Amino acid sequence: RSTFARAASAVGLAKDNQKKVHAVDNVSLSVKPGEVLGLVGESGCGKSTFGRMVAGILPPTNGSITFEGKNATRASVENHLNVQMVFQNPYASLNPRLRVDQLISEAAQYHGILKPADAPQFVASLLQQVGLDPSYANRYPHQFSGGQRQRIAIARALSLNPKFVVCDEAVSALDVSVQAQILNLFMDLRESKGLTYLFISHNLAVVEYIADRVAIMYLGRIVEITDTKTIFKSANHPYTQALIADAPRLDAKVAEHRPIQGELPSPLNPPAGCPFHPRCQNATSRCKEERPALKEIAPMHFSACHLND
Ligand code: SF4
Ligand code: MG
Repeated sequence: RSTFARAASAVGLAKDNQKKVHAVDNVSLSVKPGEVLGLVGESGCGKSTFGRMVAGILPPTNGSITFEGKNATRASVENHLNVQMVFQNPYASLNPRLRVDQLISEAAQYHGILKPADAPQFVASLLQQVGLDPSYANRYPHQFSGGQRQRIAIARALSLNPKFVVCDEAVSALDVSVQAQILNLFMDLRESKGLTYLFISHNLAVVEYIADRVAIMYLGRIVEITDTKTIFKSANHPYTQALIADAPRLDAKVAEHRPIQGELPSPLNPPAGCPFHPRCQNATSRCKEERPALKEIAPMHFSACHLND
Protein backbone atom coordinates (compact mmCIF):
# COMPACT_ATOMS: atom_id res chain seq x y z
CA ARG A 1 0.00 0.00 0.00
CA SER A 2 1.21 3.48 -0.77
CA THR A 3 2.18 5.71 2.06
CA PHE A 4 1.32 8.64 -0.09
CA ALA A 5 -0.71 8.95 -3.14
CA ARG A 6 -1.30 12.25 -4.63
CA ALA A 7 -2.97 13.97 -7.45
CA ALA A 8 -2.84 17.66 -6.98
CA SER A 9 -2.84 20.96 -8.71
CA ALA A 10 -1.93 24.35 -7.33
CA VAL A 11 -3.02 27.60 -8.82
CA GLY A 12 -1.37 30.82 -7.77
CA LEU A 13 -1.90 34.38 -8.81
CA ALA A 14 1.02 36.10 -10.44
CA LYS A 15 1.60 39.58 -9.05
CA ASP A 16 2.14 41.35 -12.34
CA ASN A 17 -1.11 40.78 -14.19
CA GLN A 18 -3.12 38.52 -11.87
CA LYS A 19 -3.23 35.78 -14.45
CA LYS A 20 -3.59 32.35 -12.92
CA VAL A 21 -0.43 30.30 -12.81
CA HIS A 22 -0.62 26.56 -12.59
CA ALA A 23 2.54 25.88 -10.60
CA VAL A 24 1.66 22.21 -10.46
CA ASP A 25 -0.89 20.69 -12.78
CA ASN A 26 -2.48 17.31 -12.43
CA VAL A 27 0.51 15.64 -10.80
CA SER A 28 -0.11 12.18 -9.44
CA LEU A 29 2.60 10.42 -7.46
CA SER A 30 2.55 7.68 -4.92
CA VAL A 31 5.34 6.74 -2.57
CA LYS A 32 5.72 3.36 -0.94
CA PRO A 33 6.59 3.01 2.75
CA GLY A 34 10.36 3.14 3.19
CA GLU A 35 10.94 4.45 -0.32
CA VAL A 36 12.94 7.50 -1.35
CA LEU A 37 11.25 9.17 -4.30
CA GLY A 38 13.42 11.80 -5.95
CA LEU A 39 11.65 14.75 -7.58
CA VAL A 40 13.88 16.52 -10.07
CA GLY A 41 13.54 19.61 -12.21
CA GLU A 42 14.95 23.05 -12.85
CA SER A 43 14.28 25.96 -10.47
CA GLY A 44 10.75 27.20 -10.90
CA CYS A 45 9.32 23.95 -12.30
CA GLY A 46 6.86 23.54 -9.41
CA LYS A 47 8.65 20.88 -7.37
CA SER A 48 8.74 22.95 -4.16
CA THR A 49 5.07 23.79 -4.57
CA PHE A 50 4.30 20.09 -4.85
CA GLY A 51 6.43 19.32 -1.77
CA ARG A 52 4.57 21.94 0.25
CA MET A 53 1.26 20.43 -0.76
CA VAL A 54 2.43 16.99 0.33
CA ALA A 55 3.60 18.43 3.66
CA GLY A 56 0.24 20.13 4.18
CA ILE A 57 1.76 23.62 4.19
CA LEU A 58 -0.03 24.61 1.00
CA PRO A 59 -3.51 23.33 0.16
CA PRO A 60 -4.01 22.10 -3.40
CA THR A 61 -6.64 24.03 -5.36
CA ASN A 62 -7.67 20.75 -6.90
CA GLY A 63 -7.20 17.08 -6.25
CA SER A 64 -6.25 15.41 -3.02
CA ILE A 65 -3.45 14.13 -0.86
CA THR A 66 -3.89 10.77 0.84
CA PHE A 67 -1.73 9.38 3.59
CA GLU A 68 -1.96 5.69 4.38
CA GLY A 69 -5.25 5.58 2.55
CA LYS A 70 -6.80 8.50 4.43
CA ASN A 71 -7.50 11.90 2.97
CA ALA A 72 -4.83 14.29 4.18
CA THR A 73 -5.59 17.22 1.92
CA ARG A 74 -6.59 19.47 4.78
CA ALA A 75 -3.62 20.29 6.93
CA SER A 76 -4.92 18.26 9.87
CA VAL A 77 -2.87 18.00 13.04
CA GLU A 78 -2.35 14.32 12.36
CA ASN A 79 -0.99 14.98 8.89
CA HIS A 80 1.12 17.76 10.28
CA LEU A 81 2.75 15.33 12.68
CA ASN A 82 3.12 12.50 10.16
CA VAL A 83 4.81 14.61 7.53
CA GLN A 84 7.71 16.93 8.25
CA MET A 85 9.77 19.06 5.95
CA VAL A 86 13.50 19.86 5.79
CA PHE A 87 14.34 22.98 3.83
CA GLN A 88 17.32 24.17 1.84
CA ASN A 89 18.64 26.88 4.05
CA PRO A 90 19.56 25.87 7.61
CA TYR A 91 20.55 29.48 8.31
CA ALA A 92 17.07 30.83 7.61
CA SER A 93 15.06 27.91 9.00
CA LEU A 94 16.41 28.03 12.58
CA ASN A 95 15.36 30.92 14.81
CA PRO A 96 18.69 32.48 15.89
CA ARG A 97 17.28 33.53 19.28
CA LEU A 98 16.45 30.02 20.40
CA ARG A 99 18.86 27.54 21.91
CA VAL A 100 19.24 24.14 20.29
CA ASP A 101 17.25 22.44 23.05
CA GLN A 102 14.40 24.90 22.56
CA LEU A 103 14.51 24.52 18.78
CA ILE A 104 14.30 20.75 19.04
CA SER A 105 11.74 20.35 21.85
CA GLU A 106 9.38 23.28 21.22
CA ALA A 107 7.04 21.61 18.72
CA ALA A 108 6.80 18.32 20.62
CA GLN A 109 5.88 20.19 23.80
CA TYR A 110 3.38 22.33 21.93
CA HIS A 111 1.67 19.21 20.59
CA GLY A 112 1.64 17.65 24.05
CA ILE A 113 3.79 14.67 23.10
CA LEU A 114 6.65 15.75 25.37
CA LYS A 115 6.56 16.77 29.03
CA PRO A 116 8.95 19.57 29.99
CA ALA A 117 10.64 17.31 32.53
CA ASP A 118 11.53 14.82 29.81
CA ALA A 119 12.91 17.44 27.41
CA PRO A 120 16.63 17.20 28.29
CA GLN A 121 16.73 13.45 27.67
CA PHE A 122 14.59 13.86 24.53
CA VAL A 123 16.91 16.52 23.10
CA ALA A 124 20.05 14.55 23.95
CA SER A 125 18.69 11.48 22.20
CA LEU A 126 17.73 13.40 19.04
CA LEU A 127 21.11 15.13 18.91
CA GLN A 128 22.78 11.75 19.08
CA GLN A 129 20.54 10.38 16.34
CA VAL A 130 21.66 13.14 13.97
CA GLY A 131 25.33 12.75 14.88
CA LEU A 132 25.73 15.73 17.19
CA ASP A 133 27.13 15.85 20.71
CA PRO A 134 24.35 16.14 23.34
CA SER A 135 26.36 18.89 25.03
CA TYR A 136 25.40 21.18 22.11
CA ALA A 137 21.89 21.48 23.55
CA ASN A 138 22.42 24.87 25.16
CA ARG A 139 24.21 26.54 22.26
CA TYR A 140 22.70 28.86 19.64
CA PRO A 141 22.48 28.28 15.87
CA HIS A 142 25.20 30.82 15.01
CA GLN A 143 27.72 28.65 16.85
CA PHE A 144 27.41 25.90 14.24
CA SER A 145 28.53 25.22 10.68
CA GLY A 146 26.02 24.81 7.84
CA GLY A 147 26.14 21.03 8.03
CA GLN A 148 25.64 21.05 11.81
CA ARG A 149 22.71 23.44 11.45
CA GLN A 150 21.13 21.13 8.91
CA ARG A 151 21.55 18.28 11.42
CA ILE A 152 19.74 20.43 14.00
CA ALA A 153 16.95 21.10 11.48
CA ILE A 154 16.70 17.35 10.87
CA ALA A 155 16.54 16.67 14.63
CA ARG A 156 13.72 19.20 14.87
CA ALA A 157 11.85 17.47 12.02
CA LEU A 158 12.32 14.10 13.77
CA SER A 159 11.05 15.49 17.08
CA LEU A 160 7.45 14.93 15.99
CA ASN A 161 8.16 11.32 15.06
CA PRO A 162 7.13 11.69 11.40
CA LYS A 163 6.67 8.77 9.05
CA PHE A 164 7.32 10.83 5.96
CA VAL A 165 9.85 13.60 5.37
CA VAL A 166 9.81 16.03 2.47
CA CYS A 167 13.36 17.25 1.80
CA ASP A 168 13.37 20.36 -0.39
CA GLU A 169 16.91 20.95 -1.70
CA ALA A 170 18.01 19.79 1.77
CA VAL A 171 21.70 19.56 0.87
CA SER A 172 21.90 22.20 -1.88
CA ALA A 173 23.16 25.01 0.35
CA LEU A 174 25.90 22.89 1.90
CA ASP A 175 29.55 22.52 0.94
CA VAL A 176 30.02 19.59 -1.40
CA SER A 177 32.12 17.75 1.17
CA VAL A 178 29.26 17.99 3.68
CA GLN A 179 26.50 16.97 1.26
CA ALA A 180 27.42 13.27 1.28
CA GLN A 181 27.49 13.23 5.09
CA ILE A 182 23.98 14.61 5.30
CA LEU A 183 22.74 12.25 2.57
CA ASN A 184 24.20 9.35 4.55
CA LEU A 185 22.41 10.62 7.65
CA PHE A 186 19.10 10.60 5.74
CA MET A 187 19.79 7.00 4.65
CA ASP A 188 20.71 5.91 8.19
CA LEU A 189 17.53 7.49 9.54
CA ARG A 190 15.49 5.68 6.92
CA GLU A 191 16.83 2.41 8.29
CA SER A 192 16.62 3.21 11.98
CA LYS A 193 13.25 4.99 11.90
CA GLY A 194 11.57 3.45 8.89
CA LEU A 195 11.23 6.84 7.21
CA THR A 196 9.89 7.49 3.74
CA TYR A 197 11.14 10.48 1.78
CA LEU A 198 10.12 12.77 -1.02
CA PHE A 199 13.52 14.12 -1.96
CA ILE A 200 13.28 17.28 -4.06
CA SER A 201 16.41 18.48 -5.84
CA HIS A 202 17.65 20.14 -8.99
CA ASN A 203 20.85 18.13 -8.55
CA LEU A 204 20.74 14.80 -10.34
CA ALA A 205 23.91 13.47 -8.73
CA VAL A 206 22.36 13.89 -5.29
CA VAL A 207 19.17 12.19 -6.41
CA GLU A 208 21.06 9.31 -8.03
CA TYR A 209 22.82 8.77 -4.72
CA ILE A 210 19.75 8.69 -2.50
CA ALA A 211 16.60 7.88 -4.49
CA ASP A 212 14.99 4.52 -5.29
CA ARG A 213 12.76 6.05 -7.94
CA VAL A 214 12.95 9.37 -9.73
CA ALA A 215 10.20 11.63 -11.07
CA ILE A 216 11.20 14.35 -13.53
CA MET A 217 9.09 17.51 -13.46
CA TYR A 218 8.83 20.08 -16.22
CA LEU A 219 6.60 23.17 -15.95
CA GLY A 220 4.47 21.67 -13.22
CA ARG A 221 3.97 18.24 -14.79
CA ILE A 222 5.68 14.90 -14.42
CA VAL A 223 7.31 13.99 -17.75
CA GLU A 224 9.06 10.78 -16.72
CA ILE A 225 9.10 8.47 -13.72
CA THR A 226 10.82 5.16 -13.10
CA ASP A 227 13.46 3.51 -10.92
CA THR A 228 16.72 5.37 -10.44
CA LYS A 229 18.90 2.91 -12.38
CA THR A 230 16.69 3.13 -15.45
CA ILE A 231 16.55 6.93 -15.34
CA PHE A 232 20.32 7.14 -15.41
CA LYS A 233 21.00 4.25 -17.83
CA SER A 234 18.15 4.56 -20.28
CA ALA A 235 16.12 7.71 -19.80
CA ASN A 236 13.31 7.96 -22.33
CA HIS A 237 12.20 11.57 -22.29
CA PRO A 238 14.31 14.08 -24.25
CA TYR A 239 14.17 16.46 -21.28
CA THR A 240 15.50 13.80 -18.90
CA GLN A 241 18.19 12.85 -21.41
CA ALA A 242 19.29 16.47 -21.70
CA LEU A 243 19.36 16.91 -17.91
CA ILE A 244 21.47 13.79 -17.47
CA ALA A 245 23.83 14.58 -20.34
CA ASP A 246 24.95 17.72 -18.66
CA ALA A 247 24.53 16.91 -14.96
CA PRO A 248 27.28 18.02 -12.61
CA ARG A 249 28.85 15.26 -10.57
CA LEU A 250 28.41 14.99 -6.80
CA ASP A 251 32.08 15.77 -6.27
CA ALA A 252 32.07 18.76 -8.62
CA LYS A 253 31.28 22.25 -7.51
CA VAL A 254 27.53 22.34 -7.62
CA ALA A 255 25.71 25.50 -8.46
CA GLU A 256 22.19 26.03 -9.67
CA HIS A 257 22.65 24.60 -13.09
CA ARG A 258 20.97 25.39 -16.37
CA PRO A 259 22.12 22.60 -18.61
CA ILE A 260 19.57 22.82 -21.37
CA GLN A 261 19.39 25.21 -24.24
CA GLY A 262 16.94 28.03 -23.77
CA GLU A 263 15.18 29.29 -20.69
CA LEU A 264 12.46 27.52 -18.76
CA PRO A 265 9.32 29.13 -20.26
CA SER A 266 7.16 31.25 -17.97
CA PRO A 267 4.47 29.21 -16.25
CA LEU A 268 2.19 32.18 -17.03
CA ASN A 269 2.41 31.33 -20.68
CA PRO A 270 3.21 27.66 -21.02
CA PRO A 271 3.87 26.54 -24.60
CA ALA A 272 1.05 24.76 -26.41
CA GLY A 273 1.41 21.08 -27.19
CA CYS A 274 4.34 19.47 -25.45
CA PRO A 275 5.57 22.12 -22.99
CA PHE A 276 9.15 21.08 -23.76
CA HIS A 277 8.89 21.56 -27.54
CA PRO A 278 10.61 24.99 -27.81
CA ARG A 279 13.74 23.41 -26.28
CA CYS A 280 13.50 19.90 -27.69
CA GLN A 281 15.82 18.84 -30.48
CA ASN A 282 13.41 16.07 -31.49
CA ALA A 283 10.29 18.21 -31.73
CA THR A 284 7.95 17.64 -34.68
CA SER A 285 4.89 19.58 -35.80
CA ARG A 286 2.71 17.28 -33.71
CA CYS A 287 4.66 18.31 -30.60
CA LYS A 288 3.65 21.93 -31.13
CA GLU A 289 -0.05 21.10 -31.07
CA GLU A 290 -0.71 18.04 -28.98
CA ARG A 291 0.25 17.52 -25.38
CA PRO A 292 1.70 14.05 -24.84
CA ALA A 293 0.15 11.99 -22.05
CA LEU A 294 2.22 10.20 -19.43
CA LYS A 295 2.17 6.56 -20.63
CA GLU A 296 3.67 3.34 -19.35
CA ILE A 297 6.34 2.52 -21.95
CA ALA A 298 7.83 -0.43 -20.06
CA PRO A 299 6.81 -2.00 -16.74
CA MET A 300 6.79 0.80 -14.14
CA HIS A 301 8.47 3.21 -16.56
CA PHE A 302 6.30 6.19 -17.52
CA SER A 303 7.14 8.91 -20.00
CA ALA A 304 5.22 11.72 -21.71
CA CYS A 305 6.66 11.98 -25.23
CA HIS A 306 5.13 11.48 -28.70
CA LEU A 307 8.28 9.68 -29.86
CA ASN A 308 6.99 6.59 -28.03
CA ASP A 309 3.95 6.23 -30.31
FE1 SF4 B 1 10.29 16.50 -27.64
FE2 SF4 B 1 7.98 16.10 -28.91
FE3 SF4 B 1 8.78 14.36 -27.05
FE4 SF4 B 1 7.95 16.81 -26.35
S1 SF4 B 1 6.72 15.20 -27.29
S2 SF4 B 1 9.73 15.76 -25.59
S3 SF4 B 1 8.72 18.04 -28.03
S4 SF4 B 1 9.78 14.81 -29.01
MG1 MG C 1 12.47 25.20 -4.98
